[in-house]
Amino acid sequence: MHVVVIGAGIVGAATTLELLRDGHRVTIVEPGDPGGEQAASYGNGCLLSTSSVLPVTAPGLWKKLPGWLADPLGPLAVRWSYLPRAAPWLWRFFRAGSSQAKLRAIARALRPLVHDCPVRHKKLAEEAGVGELIHQTGCLYVFPSRADFDADAWAIRRETGTTWIELDENELRQREPALDRRYRFGVIVEASGHCSDPGAYVAALVRHAQALGAKLVRSRAQGFDLDGPRLKAVRTDGGSIACERAVIAAGAWSRELARQVGDRVLLETERGYHAVISSPEVYPRIPVMPSDGKMANVMTAHGLRLAGQVEIAGLAAAPNWKRAEILRDFALSVYPGLPRNLPAERVKFWMGHRPATPDGLPCIGPATGCPDVVHAYGHGHIGLIAGAATGRLVADIVSGKKPTIDPAPFSPARFN
Ligand SMILES: Cc1cc2nc3c(=O)[nH]c(=O)nc-3n(C[C@H](O)[C@H](O)[C@H](O)COP(=O)(O)OP(=O)(O)OC[C@H]3O[C@@H](n4cnc5c(N)ncnc54)[C@H](O)[C@@H]3O)c2cc1C
Repeated sequence: MHVVVIGAGIVGAATTLELLRDGHRVTIVEPGDPGGEQAASYGNGCLLSTSSVLPVTAPGLWKKLPGWLADPLGPLAVRWSYLPRAAPWLWRFFRAGSSQAKLRAIARALRPLVHDCPVRHKKLAEEAGVGELIHQTGCLYVFPSRADFDADAWAIRRETGTTWIELDENELRQREPALDRRYRFGVIVEASGHCSDPGAYVAALVRHAQALGAKLVRSRAQGFDLDGPRLKAVRTDGGSIACERAVIAAGAWSRELARQVGDRVLLETERGYHAVISSPEVYPRIPVMPSDGKMANVMTAHGLRLAGQVEIAGLAAAPNWKRAEILRDFALSVYPGLPRNLPAERVKFWMGHRPATPDGLPCIGPATGCPDVVHAYGHGHIGLIAGAATGRLVADIVSGKKPTIDPAPFSPARFN
């Protein structure tokens, strides 16, 4: 079949390769550079963490909403002007995390998408000739004390299959000498890994897909030509592309395309930021997540990347670079060996759009109004992690194969 894949972030790129593997002809529609700065896949925290099964939402979180509105620079902020638009999403967000049982169900659904992510990505990267970008070194979570670790939701992670090694203060010091002394407890999830240049990785996957025969069209998809419930073509600003199937993998920009094929998905952008410090004097040996910083610290091809923050303010608002400065400044407290007063030319800031559903589960599955169109977006904080497994799952759905991962929890129709 001829399949049009809309969007060339990690989800579109991995999906394209799996569709080619199944023998389909693929056209990718993407207005920017594959894996370019417009995509969340470019600037994320690089983590391939097998323990990422919990959504952002949690029981009792609604009590924090006034604080999120009052503090525009808090780790999670909601812009007042955007509140009316975000309200339906926020309502579902609070409901989705209202009990431990709901969190457990989400964790069980996500685990198959994430549990072997470094292995899946290593394989894809090697096929594309960039195996060196994927590292299977584990991820380290650090806490001021054992009690802070116990207060975190690690019990659900254990129940769903995550294993880890605990490190006391001495072991932590030996493993990561660059860390500030306030961290006295750590856990390493050895099965996890990271990608040292996610943008270059996505670009390489798309180049490889092109070498295998995929076509890249530099246009923006605008909608679909349908004949009753059957797909005739994808409409773009550069003309229509006749096809038998289409995949919506346009990340945070997928909502309007989804609506046109009958699904009113609740998709929001959780805007996030990064700061990259070039040639850092000190850096962690493996990816580190400081519990008091809510950010990923990863040494990348371009320097020490500090990624995090959640800002609910829509797709159009200008970035608030103070949020990226917060990430930089916090890193100075995590790694005392970094110089204070870093010159501006050594720090690069970026803002991107996580495609976020309120329940932290992606939308993967055939569209309600046209089963020839398959949804593949909404991965929020775990799109890189889950991208490879999503690509396989989407290809299984398109090819009519029995999927090895149950797509039922990801049904886009759950919001209709
Ligand atoms: C600060 C931050 C840290 C993160 N850390 C991590 C992490 O450590 N690990 C992890 O797994 N995830 C992380 N994420 C989330 C992850 O980056 C995303 O979930 C993932 O990149 C989403 O991939 P995607 O392919 O769905 O979307 P994107 O990468 O955003 O790609 C979508 C593409 O669609 C294109 N597009 C948009 N509209 C159209 C249209 N109409 N027609 C054609 N193309 C279109 C866009 O140009 C874009 O290239 C983080 C995100 C942020 C912002």
